[in-house]
Amino acid sequence: MNDQIAHNLQEVTRKIEDAALKAGRNPGDVTLIAVSKTKPVSMLLEAYEQGCRDFGENKVQEILEKYDRMPADTRFHMIGHLQRNKVKYILDKVALIHSVDSVRLAQEISKEAVKRNLETDILIEVNVAEEETKFGTRPEDTISLIREIAQLPAVHIKGLMTIAPYVEKSEENRKYFEKLRQLAVDIREQNIDNVKVEVLSMGMTGDYEVAVEEGATYVRVGTGIFGGRS
Ligand SMILES: *Cc1c(COP(=O)(O)O)cnc(C)c1O
Repeated sequence: MNDQIAHNLQEVTRKIEDAALKAGRNPGDVTLIAVSKTKPVSMLLEAYEQGCRDFGENKVQEILEKYDRMPADTRFHMIGHLQRNKVKYILDKVALIHSVDSVRLAQEISKEAVKRNLETDILIEVNVAEEETKFGTRPEDTISLIREIAQLPAVHIKGLMTIAPYVEKSEENRKYFEKLRQLAVDIREQNIDNVKVEVLSMGMTGDYEVAVEEGATYVRVGTGIFGGRS
């Protein structure tokens, strides 16, 4: 179908609104990130035409290839694991780096940002389900990590991100989204300078409605918009 992306975007947007209202939240507080990894620019442009401005990518190379071919008000979000030696390539091309989970990576971001006179916003990736195969800081280490990163110049913590486990029923992930939200509350109570925890990046195609009910401010939806990836 020709207008499949438009149709999918309408449906995902409606479900986000319903989930927000159900939880007594303002739907305007949730931003949909269209996860466009592996998809051609033509498909991103289709989503752009439907009003989408936020796109999620997990590879530096792919951001570089797509960046110049998208309109200037496109916001790219780095949602994948970021190697320190690649930070320099994307710092001026991404609106937000969702996947910071070490002081060393934050130091590299800070160093490059200072050098180029940029201010870079980041999220701390938390492995809430404590899956061995996943990146992200352990929940119990998050506050001390944030305290260290908060002292670095030109890098600003805006919130938390998590990738929940792959599950059959989205309800199974509710406890992890709840845990990330609670962790954000705990961090806010610490009143750390240079740290805001307003952003919660959580929820993917399989579970974004539950994530919105639990307080997500960014949901990252790929398959549900662009179809499956090969
Ligand atoms: C691929 C990816 C998504 C989107 O996954 P879908 O299940 O296709 O919605 C979201 N977040 C991250 C970090 C991803 O790598």
